[in-house]
Amino acid sequence: MADAAGPLLAVENLRVEFPTRRGTLVAVHDISFEIAPGEVLGVVGESGAGKSLTGAAIIGLIDPPGRIAAGRILLAGRRLDSLPYETMRRIRGREIGAIFQDPLTSLNPLYTIGRQLIETIRTHLHTSESQARAAAIALLEEVGIPAAARRIDHYPHQFSGGMRQRVVIALALAAKPKLIVADEPTTALDVSIQAQIIQLLKRLCRDHDTAVMLVTHDMGVIAETADRVAVMYAGRIVEIGLVADVINRPQHPYTVGLMGSIPKIRDERARLTQIDGSMPRLTAIPVGCAFHPRCPHAFGRCTRQRPELMDAGASRAACWLHDPAARREAMSEQTQPGGLDRARSETGTPGVAGRAP
Ligand code: SF4
Repeated sequence: MADAAGPLLAVENLRVEFPTRRGTLVAVHDISFEIAPGEVLGVVGESGAGKSLTGAAIIGLIDPPGRIAAGRILLAGRRLDSLPYETMRRIRGREIGAIFQDPLTSLNPLYTIGRQLIETIRTHLHTSESQARAAAIALLEEVGIPAAARRIDHYPHQFSGGMRQRVVIALALAAKPKLIVADEPTTALDVSIQAQIIQLLKRLCRDHDTAVMLVTHDMGVIAETADRVAVMYAGRIVEIGLVADVINRPQHPYTVGLMGSIPKIRDERARLTQIDGSMPRLTAIPVGCAFHPRCPHAFGRCTRQRPELMDAGASRAACWLHDPAARREAMSEQTQPGGLDRARSETGTPGVAGRAP
């Protein structure tokens, strides 16, 4: 959803890999997406889907020996993936803010939160000490820290987990970045605090016109917050579209499974479902559609050939069920019992006991 002036962030054919003694493991395969100015893109999937690594690639924080092996990352048209470390360090903070799951990884326990905020503001915005202190207090008030003028001189350990995450949000916004990458920003918090932090992040980004890439395993958080959502599985985007479309009419069987695990407030009797099996290891990504061992709709072609993203309802999904010719194949296979088992045994990937479609 790029606006007329072009996307704020463009990720093109990104590939992240880890060289190991046994060969190269590819954790993110050829993914592409854009984020428009002020837009919130949710990136969702189970652990190991590659969503956090995609966020780390954007902010230039992939731990060696991991590396970006192919593709481009552009922020407002400027290529980030080939920048030297020092240049990227300046961009991080000034143009891209980061919020991580554990606020203590973003805050230095040895310095007061005021010192950390003031230093960030002065480094990136080149203001005087007194202007930076006033801006820091205003930011703390904006994120809901009571008695901000006094609390600014407190250390991180003097705040609760929820209050610390508010401070981290203030820190991420301090240099007025165009984009914030928020990786599981509420996962470490109590459930009652999670909703407050999500609402706060949403309001602040709207007020500051800051775009957000929100990485989470929680479809409920996406539903509350995001404009669009990208669903990741085994290092690839398997569905992408507007949140309302993906949530109301999911087009990929994996997204259907994720949606089935969210409690529905209006239907207390509805049973929650789970996706059988687990995310494949990087060393054992199945041939064809990586989801086929867990998919209740898999058919022969799924075990042999990987589907690319294609038009699927109002969204785009990587699933053969949206290809008319492949769908005809699937229907004809239904009349030949044992076809899928035969195809799976040919490619050496056992299925799991699938739920009824
Ligand atoms: Fe399931 Fe086949 Fe679609 Fe993959 S391509 S999600 S295995 S139906």
